[in-house]
Amino acid sequence: MFHAAPLVAILVIGLGLAFVLGTIAHRLRLSPIVGYLLAGVAVGPFTPGFVADPRLTLQLADIGVALLMFGVGLHFSPKDLLSVRGVAAPGAFLQVSISTALGTGIAWLAGWPLPSGIVFGLALAVASTVVTTRGLQERRLVETGRGRITVGWLVVQDMLAILALVLIPAVARAIAWASSSGSIEAAAFAKPVAVTFGKLAAFIAVMWLIGRRVIPWILHYIAHTGSRELFRLAVLSVALGVAFGAVELFGVSIALGAFFAGMILSESQLSQRAAEETLPLRDAFAVLFFVSLGVVFNPAAIADRPGLLAAAVCVVMIGGTGAAIGVLLLLGRPLSTAAFVSAGLGQIGEFSFILVTLAVGLKLLPAESRDVILGTSIISIIFNPLLWAGAEALQRRLEPKRMDIPQKALELAPTKLSNHAVLVGYGRVGRMVAEGLKADGIPFLVIEEAPGAIERLRAQDLEVLPGNGVEENVLKASNLQGAKLLFVAIPQAFEAGQIIEQAREANPRIEIVARAHFEPEIEHLRRYGANAVIMGEQEIALAMLRHARSLAG
Ligand code: AMP
Repeated sequence: MFHAAPLVAILVIGLGLAFVLGTIAHRLRLSPIVGYLLAGVAVGPFTPGFVADPRLTLQLADIGVALLMFGVGLHFSPKDLLSVRGVAAPGAFLQVSISTALGTGIAWLAGWPLPSGIVFGLALAVASTVVTTRGLQERRLVETGRGRITVGWLVVQDMLAILALVLIPAVARAIAWASSSGSIEAAAFAKPVAVTFGKLAAFIAVMWLIGRRVIPWILHYIAHTGSRELFRLAVLSVALGVAFGAVELFGVSIALGAFFAGMILSESQLSQRAAEETLPLRDAFAVLFFVSLGVVFNPAAIADRPGLLAAAVCVVMIGGTGAAIGVLLLLGRPLSTAAFVSAGLGQIGEFSFILVTLAVGLKLLPAESRDVILGTSIISIIFNPLLWAGAEALQRRLEPKRMDIPQKALELAPTKLSNHAVLVGYGRVGRMVAEGLKADGIPFLVIEEAPGAIERLRAQDLEVLPGNGVEENVLKASNLQGAKLLFVAIPQAFEAGQIIEQAREANPRIEIVARAHFEPEIEHLRRYGANAVIMGEQEIALAMLRHARSLAG
């Protein structure tokens, strides 16, 4: 139907449709992910019209998985990983065992033999890295204690899934052997397990001993060239190269490989900041991941085994999350933490899909199990926000004062200040503004979204509204009507414009001072109602000249 090459068509039509349906989903107050999945179904082989090649979309999805995990690794240091090992390792192991047992149970009811049931159960036990990390990022939880436990948990699940991927062919062989000779060979299991652990250990050792020195060195070297383009390319090559090498050389998953690459860069703040510049690519490919899940999904398959599908969804969303909550409580974590961690994990995705595809190929599972797993994945991803909402509701009941997790739904307590100043952003600029306001004795509050900055504000006993300043409930809680001054000290002009527009509407008399970096931004922010816009670069230039002139006397 189209003249363009299949890859071009997938990129253009897949992303375009995901954009349109994602926007509609957002307007309907659903997660945009629902839109992306439906875009995939629309370009899949089971619906009329353009048909995307599922093999191509799945390959693109792999890049999305790698970039996403690279991004997670960037915010995660080896220290963080070690600090949660006491919870994440036993927790994930127990939860995966319980979920697998439940899944095996329903497979047994469906009449499948035990080995098939175990693989099916395992597919229901491992969460999608992509969906979990997206959930954490959307709620800005990655760098919180709960976020760390969740990511650590994912890493352990990931390792268990890799082990399973290696063991499944051995199990299939052993079953074939047993049915022909009547006995089971223990060596068929022991050897692949040892080899897998050996490879995993070798990969970690290589990254630790060599990667940790070589990768930052490459980036520093490239930085000397002064070419930003080369630098971004270097970061991208490191991320994808390590992920690819992990798969090809060590049999480690692409997700885990990229995660380690990111974690190594997280040790140096400079490379971390620079690496973040490449992350927009990540978002585009993450969208393709969801599109690809939609592409391989056959909606008719749901109709074939509704009971099994419903049971599988229950295992993931109720059994798995329940198991995670129970295990976390057992490990002495508070209920609200348990609820957040398990909400993040309450869905399945890429790993489950890879596991069943392998098992179906080895005739260990019937082909229909693939559609059941895909259906379960799509349903659990679509309804996953409900689990988050449940965790948020629980948090409001249990710890109404805890506000370090700025969720959209969270009601913020309105400020009691009036005739005050509102400061949006507490970074390099906002901190200095706050110092000045304090010195002048002007009462003020700060709107800030980064957990680190929020903690710093709290430590100084400064009033803070955690959240994105663009959000209506956050601005409302800051009592703009009663305020005298608004400082918009964030670097993004689009967001600043949104904040200024809402503030001007709420209070026509408030004095708004905003920050800009380019001339067109000054014009833009003034149009929305800023009284004064200070361009950082101009001020730097003036200060430089002042300094030079003072030297000249
Ligand atoms: P800097 O560029 O160093 O002044 O840092 C800007 C600060 O503003 C950072 O701490 C960001 O977390 C914060 N920030 C950026 N955008 C927003 C926003 N829309 N709402 C609240 N805080 C923001």
